Amino acid sequence: MKIAVIGTGYVGLVTGTCLAETGNNITCVDIVQEKIEKMRSGILPIYEPGLDILFHRNIEQGRIKFTTDLAEAIKDAVIIFLALPTPPGGDGKADLSYVLGAAKDIANLITDYKVIVTKSTVPVGTADKVRAAFEENTLVEVDVVSNPEFLREGVAVDDFMKPDRVVVGTRSERAKKLMEELYAPYVRSGNPVIFMDERSSELTKYAANSFLATKITFMNEVANLCELVGADVDMVRKGVGADDRIGKRFLFPGIGYGGSCFPKDVQALALSSKEYEYDFKILDAVMEVNQSQKLKIVEKMLKYYNNDIKGKKFALWGLAFKPETDDIREAPALYIIDELIKAGAEIVAYDPEGMENVKKLKGDVLAFADNAYHALEGADALIIATEWQAFRNPDFKQMGEKLKNKVIFDGRNLYDLHKMIDLGYYYNSIGRATVS
Ligand code: NAD
Repeated sequence: MKIAVIGTGYVGLVTGTCLAETGNNITCVDIVQEKIEKMRSGILPIYEPGLDILFHRNIEQGRIKFTTDLAEAIKDAVIIFLALPTPPGGDGKADLSYVLGAAKDIANLITDYKVIVTKSTVPVGTADKVRAAFEENTLVEVDVVSNPEFLREGVAVDDFMKPDRVVVGTRSERAKKLMEELYAPYVRSGNPVIFMDERSSELTKYAANSFLATKITFMNEVANLCELVGADVDMVRKGVGADDRIGKRFLFPGIGYGGSCFPKDVQALALSSKEYEYDFKILDAVMEVNQSQKLKIVEKMLKYYNNDIKGKKFALWGLAFKPETDDIREAPALYIIDELIKAGAEIVAYDPEGMENVKKLKGDVLAFADNAYHALEGADALIIATEWQAFRNPDFKQMGEKLKNKVIFDGRNLYDLHKMIDLGYYYNSIGRATVS
């Protein structure tokens, strides 16, 4: 099938590449010329494990190309995916200007039937707004489909190639057939393509992300309580997660959720519910708890240093909002950096993939190390903000030699408490006893 993907960020580029992988003919569009140039020269503009192999293979085999020219991209396409940003607007609700702006531009260019698929995360009722944008600007027939994306950065290729489910919101039989055909290669093992109306599909995405954010937040609150009552959250987590109704996944406590999706999607669902005069109380609580959880480490540090961290030097391992990505949007590490700098501390950070993005944003307020151990030199303590695999089993002896004090504040519970006692570290983690 000939397909155009508008927006080549984390979702658009993975979508385009993975759709090319099953033989489709893809044209990816972006407004950022530099990004397009990079991709044309075979350079991936994002870090996403496994994407490079598929990306290069499909470029070589001529199944994917890149352009800034929307007209050229959509001319022969049957399906047009919108993988555009939907960031929070000034009022906190999802900003639909990218999606509706692209819909209008496409409407002014098309001359034959197209299926317009919204992959972006959009509030209920957006399909109607996209449809209206077409009706106002063209007489050409289109079907507007909601097809929210559930991929996770870090494992996006796997998630796209073997999705747990595909959700498609459409009431058009013609569009349904095309979408069924398009996704068939990805659900051969029997996972469902769930067809529904557009509104249900749009809400499914927000409900899924908000539920996951709630699950994390619930466990963070359990962890906070564990610290007060002298329980160990790792034990509680295992005991709770063994129940099939709850499940083992997404129960790890930490320093709050971040990223480009959960924070904005929880907020957008809470706000859009209010538009329908529904007070989605649990989401307000989730946002409030998450906000304070992001600064849990700073709270612990201030307590340890008697509210005086002026002039102290800290090593920070982890900047990305989660491992296996270079995405730093809404990363808890950024909040920690701001608070520590405000309190007069110095920070030397290391992250395997996220440093370039943080340099662009905060390059003037903190320093960066070229490897994890260099960050530790002369530091008063180590802070861990992202659970990269490479941090799980480090050389503690070397760490102890480089650190000024053997002190670790771990926001991701990477180390065994007994081991830290044996190694002589002061070790403060989340929802577990502080040991030294
Ligand atoms: P992103 O910011 O990484 O990518 C968006 C891309 O669109 C950018 O490259 C930008 O330059 C481009 N763009 C902006 N305006 C354009 C225009 N008019 N024409 C062409 N290109 C344009 O965003 P993302 O993370 O890929 O997210 C896209 C959507 O998918 C959002 O709604 C997001 O909520 C949703 N989503 C994201 C993820 C994720 O893990 N990142 C997962 C599921 C859903």
